[in-house]
Amino acid sequence: MSKEAAWYRALPDERVQCVLCPAECVLDDGKTGICGCRQNNKGKLYTDNYGETVTVAMDPIEKKPLYHFYPGSNILSVGANCCNLGCLHCQNWSISQEKARTQYIAPEVLVELTRRHNSIGVAFTYTEPMVWYEYIMDTAPLLRSAGMKVVLVSNGYIMPEPLGELIPHVDAANIDLKGMRPEFYSKVCKGKLEPVLKTLTMLASSNVHLEITNLIIPGKNDSDDDIQRLVDFVASLSPDIPLHLSAYHPEYKLNVEATPADTMLRALMLARRKLKYVYVGNMMVDGGSDTKCPECGHVLIRRTGYRTMVTGMNGTRCEQCGKESGMIR
Ligand code: SF4
Ligand code: SF4
Repeated sequence: MSKEAAWYRALPDERVQCVLCPAECVLDDGKTGICGCRQNNKGKLYTDNYGETVTVAMDPIEKKPLYHFYPGSNILSVGANCCNLGCLHCQNWSISQEKARTQYIAPEVLVELTRRHNSIGVAFTYTEPMVWYEYIMDTAPLLRSAGMKVVLVSNGYIMPEPLGELIPHVDAANIDLKGMRPEFYSKVCKGKLEPVLKTLTMLASSNVHLEITNLIIPGKNDSDDDIQRLVDFVASLSPDIPLHLSAYHPEYKLNVEATPADTMLRALMLARRKLKYVYVGNMMVDGGSDTKCPECGHVLIRRTGYRTMVTGMNGTRCEQCGKESGMIR
């Protein structure tokens, strides 16, 4: 379904500039932006993916990954058929970079689906929710007024103004911070680092529950310096923000070796020096998915695959030392 885009400016000769994301595409009449879902039609910008859903599934919240937001719950997860980055290693390239079959789900219908499936809310995920902006802006208030949660799993590639309007409608977000060097973003992800850092800074100072994911790719973003820069940045936002270090496997256009276990262990050790909650994903590492109390080391939550057991908490506090975990339950 098509809808006029929320963020663009008209230019002379029926051209437009989209100002939703940092690509800031300037489009002649009839042309489509980098994301493949915003098109100039006679001097007006339209999004053609409004409510067009490429995937619908019930997922454990841990799969997003969100480990400190209603642990052990399930969430209805939906995705659009587009993305504004072009990561060479995209695991969902067939729905983020290629045209795929979609199904229109009206905002009210999505709310009803969520209710019927006994979900805590909706996660906008799989591809890139920021370029589903208008749909999320319409749907999120309906979900929240029905008592449901709104979750974004995103690359964080959005301009500050639209993000500022979106933030009050969001309960939790996992943002992919793909690397800490601008050239990594430009060469591997076809985007820019700085806007993602800005997004994270805005979210960290908002009421949105924030977790961050970093995929570690051998030879691309896996040096001690890369990891240390990442850790220093997250710590500068808050050492309480959960960081998910994820192991890479060859996918799409990138064909380097899978991340070895010793790289993940080295990154885990560096990150745990400064951050209270660091997890390893896409690889089995003993204790790498468990949540421990940063005060006394007591295990608060045990995770095996997507099986989650809250074992050591009274409410949101450590049952052993009483330290508040900041977990949302
Ligand atoms: S949202 Fe799409 S059309 Fe708009 S600037 Fe980003 S890539 Fe370009
Ligand atoms: S931002 Fe995510 S969905 Fe988009 S290309 Fe990169 S990995 Fe794929």
